Amino acid sequence: MSDPLIKILQADITLQNTEAIVNAANCSLLGGGGVDGAIHRAAGPELLEECRGIGGCPTGEARITKGYRLPAKYIIQTAGPVWRGGERDECRLLAQCYQNCLRLAEKYNIENISFPSISTGAYGFPIQKASKIALEEITNFIKSQTTVKQVFIVTFSSSDTGVYIAAQEDFDQH
Ligand code: ADP
Repeated sequence: MSDPLIKILQADITLQNTEAIVNAANCSLLGGGGVDGAIHRAAGPELLEECRGIGGCPTGEARITKGYRLPAKYIIQTAGPVWRGGERDECRLLAQCYQNCLRLAEKYNIENISFPSISTGAYGFPIQKASKIALEEITNFIKSQTTVKQVFIVTFSSSDTGVYIAAQEDFDQH
């Protein structure tokens, strides 16, 4: 049986009304393309102002900002690893992104949160591998005592959705 606390949902993450959404940002936190661009456009220019004051985010770490014009109260900004063939600690760094986002959510007493598929767009991380890491880290985290009660993995394309659903089915069998 799938963990009812983790739901895979094909949607635009900027429209999610969970308390927090995660942004697959870059280390500068000053905006970019893909989901990062969509979040900055939807949240409005105050987000960039706040991000300027943070001074960046090393790969694998996470920082929290307000959600501004988004339905979400908070945005947890994380910088995923760029895929460079798998020999540069990419898997561990991606796992750290999920862990650090969830730790920050817990610190802010957040009960529900939406993640995009971190690093699998412009950063080129193979989505099959990334989906396994995402499910493993989220599952491990919510098994422990935590404020986080519901996690959405928000995919954008139907092929990505298929990969995450297959990974979840596979995960449930092991
Ligand atoms: P990264 O640089 O971490 O690879 P990208 O933004 O390029 O980040 O891609 C991460 C994932 O976010 C991709 O699967 C992409 O399709 C997806 N994505 C892009 N826009 C949105 C959106 N508005 N809502 C949810 N996911 C999105």
